Amino acid sequence: MPLPTKSISVFDTPIEYLKGVGSQRAVALGKDLNIHTFKDLLYFYPFRYVDRTRIYKIKEINAELPYIQVCGKITHVEITGPKRRQRMEADLEDDTGRIQLVWFQGINWVSKKMRPDAAYIVFGKPSVFKGKFTISHPSMEEMTKENLEIVKGLQPVYSTTEMLKSKGLESNGILRLERELLSKIEDEITETLPTYMVEKLRLMPRKEALKNIHLPTSIEKLNQAQFRLKFEELFYMQLRLLRNKTEREVTVKGFVFSKVDQYVNDFYHRYLPFPLTEAQKRVIREIRQDMGSGKQMNRLLQGDVGSGKTLVALLCMLIAIDNGFQCCMMAPTEILAMQHYATLKESLKDMPVRISLITGSKKETERKIIHEELENGQMQIVVGTHALIEDRVKFSNLGLVIIDEQHRFGVNQRARLWQKSSPAPHVLVMTATPIPRTLAMTLYGDIDTSVIDEMPPGRIPIKTVHKYDSKRSEVFSFIKKELQKGRQAYVIYPFIEESENSDIENLIEGYEEIQKAFPANTVGMVHGRVKLAERERTMAKFVANQIQILVATTVIEVGVNVPNASIILIESAQKFGLSQLHQLRGRVGRSTHQSYCILMTPYERGADAKARISIMVATNDGFEISEEDLRLRGPGDMMGTQQSGVLDLKIANLAKDSSILRQARIIASEILSEDRSLASEKNHVLAEQLKQIQQEKADWSRIS
Ligand code: ADP
Ligand code: MG
Repeated sequence: MPLPTKSISVFDTPIEYLKGVGSQRAVALGKDLNIHTFKDLLYFYPFRYVDRTRIYKIKEINAELPYIQVCGKITHVEITGPKRRQRMEADLEDDTGRIQLVWFQGINWVSKKMRPDAAYIVFGKPSVFKGKFTISHPSMEEMTKENLEIVKGLQPVYSTTEMLKSKGLESNGILRLERELLSKIEDEITETLPTYMVEKLRLMPRKEALKNIHLPTSIEKLNQAQFRLKFEELFYMQLRLLRNKTEREVTVKGFVFSKVDQYVNDFYHRYLPFPLTEAQKRVIREIRQDMGSGKQMNRLLQGDVGSGKTLVALLCMLIAIDNGFQCCMMAPTEILAMQHYATLKESLKDMPVRISLITGSKKETERKIIHEELENGQMQIVVGTHALIEDRVKFSNLGLVIIDEQHRFGVNQRARLWQKSSPAPHVLVMTATPIPRTLAMTLYGDIDTSVIDEMPPGRIPIKTVHKYDSKRSEVFSFIKKELQKGRQAYVIYPFIEESENSDIENLIEGYEEIQKAFPANTVGMVHGRVKLAERERTMAKFVANQIQILVATTVIEVGVNVPNASIILIESAQKFGLSQLHQLRGRVGRSTHQSYCILMTPYERGADAKARISIMVATNDGFEISEEDLRLRGPGDMMGTQQSGVLDLKIANLAKDSSILRQARIIASEILSEDRSLASEKNHVLAEQLKQIQQEKADWSRIS
């Protein structure tokens, strides 16, 4: 069979054939930096730049200066100290003075390379040592004409590895390759955005941008180059997501829920427990419009913990039922599924709605009956865990799927759910972990989103404080007072790994300590190693206030709703991530009682942990916290990004480039609204580029 023909361009040339690479370095570049071709090297951008526009005179040096460079001759080299703790010193002189250079490591290598009396360009951070100006571990280049060219100006810094360094590919070695590459292929670099965009947005042309990203001629040019490349990257991402979305809206048909009838009206007028907030009303309107439009709904519902998503879900299900369809609601854990089931059952107790629960621990005989009723259409609502995904769960006419706490389910699991009906059911994904706007635009860029940005009235903001371990007895007596008022408390321990015995020991020790400290109260404990049935019994007792203090791990992180609990004490709070802390805090503040979140840490804790704790103390706003989380951690570690391909970004940064992202999305959307299939002549480049990108990426963009 003939292989598909693919146009071979110079960019696909194996890196081995670049002058200065060769087979050995090529292997190392491939292995360590994933650079296999000319193209890979061209797109391997510096991760920062150092301003080397100026060469200092030695007499100008003072210890306050940041990184600087000086030029001079090595006049004296000396190695001192015992073999294992050697130290090498060298004197560097220019016509204004002398400084000392010092090495503690790699002395062999440096001393071999260094030639006395030769002139060097030396770069590093000056400090004062024994009254002398010193630069330790400076980076040095011999002062040749070529090197002066390279090191002057803004100098790019490339990430590299020990392996590559040993083959002469430290940052400057890579820079040399980039130089060589650019001189060779510069003329082949073509524009990848339509002319009208480049002109209208005043973007730096692509060729110039790629040159300046590696060899910036000024800060201004570098900024333009960065903007251009970031914009392009984000623009194509958005164009792809939005085009998938519009295509799907046009091609995938959905059930039309045309009416709102008896079920909704009955519930709304007779059983609604409290008036809806404006945000809830708006979101329900958005969802209703989707479900009535003839297209298949794919909507993400974001709302902070406690914003009232469950009620929204319930009303949406009633709309589906009014139109003769079944609904299912999937939660990530058994506890949560049970809780949703209980809430829905209670809310619907006076209405003729058949509702059931399917979880892994349900008895087979009971499950069989539910399966039958789902298949013959009698069962209207089923709540459950991923047990719902199993093939033997079949529906008569599944019209709406609601997925709670979405990030816990994988893409495949969701896909299996929506295959249970044809056409595909409407899908509403609810998440209580607010996602930064930029992440939402990328992770969920191809679906619609609704946001509940208002809390139900009457809530008293949770008071969050930070306390050191040493204040434990003070904290305990505070908790005691609250318990005496009739409240309940959570005490949370970190439980990072199921296998980490020290964690479980801490937890059990804490449990015993608390039992001793609160003799008047009943204390319960739940964690990952407690059997599910027992965990549920304990939870049920806590709900019923037969237990006043629940010692737990993050198994209670999401969703659990015990309004009478007004205190959450988080032990070793420095070990938790921001969104985890916020989720945990969301377990309290669910009633009209003043609630408290106490974050306990040892005195010593890292800078990041300090930042997290102070953010928690400063704000209750989940969206604000998620933005901070993104800033602190970067998108790589944030929930849901691993599977999404967001990390493929080569230059844009979701934490820093939100305004570029917004601009890119608006422009992509304008272009598509005018030319949905990118068929017009002027958009030819866009269509071509997209085709190429589409081929390179797996289709991760689908949420359901
Ligand atoms: P989440 O969005 O975290 O899932 P829930 O749906 O569990 O939040 O709602 C949190 C609490 O707020 C529940 O006790 C619920 O009954 C209550 N609630 C929801 N909507 C309203 C409202 N409009 N007015 C007052 N309380 C509400
Ligand atoms: Mg919830």
